Amino acid sequence: MCTRETSPSFDKRSIKVCLACGTSDIKPGRRYCSKQCRQKLIWSLSLSKGLLQTLNTRYAVFSFTENFVTLDVMPSWSNIISRFIYRRKPGYAPAHALKELTLEAGKEWYKKRSRRISRSVASQSILEENVEYSLNPESIKPNTHRIPKLSADQKRGLKYLNINIKTLMFGDYVREIKKAYRGMAKVYHPDKGGDGDRFKEINRAHELMQQWIENPKFQLNNKLPGCWSYNGYTNRWSPPLWQ
Ligand SMILES: [Zn+2]
Repeated sequence: MCTRETSPSFDKRSIKVCLACGTSDIKPGRRYCSKQCRQKLIWSLSLSKGLLQTLNTRYAVFSFTENFVTLDVMPSWSNIISRFIYRRKPGYAPAHALKELTLEAGKEWYKKRSRRISRSVASQSILEENVEYSLNPESIKPNTHRIPKLSADQKRGLKYLNINIKTLMFGDYVREIKKAYRGMAKVYHPDKGGDGDRFKEINRAHELMQQWIENPKFQLNNKLPGCWSYNGYTNRWSPPLWQ
């Protein structure tokens, strides 16, 4: 689910899945399969805050696949990420595995403390045991993702051209817009039996996107594509930027 490490090749198809459990059994326009599903994950994420604060976390990221949940932690004293992984129990939501992961790591920490080592040394030791040098520190930091800033008309234009907004973020958008325009114009050209009004809208959409290309505007976003992100300064979790 988490795409932050592979974002340049981010899958452009927009498959709607529940942000809390990943099921595609979800109503159109919704971000979660049910209220309970969302609540369970929010509860587990809140529980993890205790652990994250103990580990002196600057940034953390939570993601899950069909079989595992992953919690990546970057403490305030270093630029290296530690990765905690927990296997999901069949039939249980990622929230359950995150809770188990948090309790397990907490137990480890208390075990170290019981050997009369200080709180910070216990935290450091847990992080060191789980260090994952291959992870790019930039991938965990918020405010490193540029989101295209579009007017309402331009957003509508994207729909007429059948372009996903992610294309403007990761892809060669000049080429993609041209390609999409050509494709849609071909389908709706009145000479080829297409819808004249629709064809006009497509041309208008293309003009609007050309205007954006001339002066492309982006805004920074503190959410990460496809992952839940935690900021130690605010002690808050943010939902993924996209599903
Ligand atoms: Zn769900």
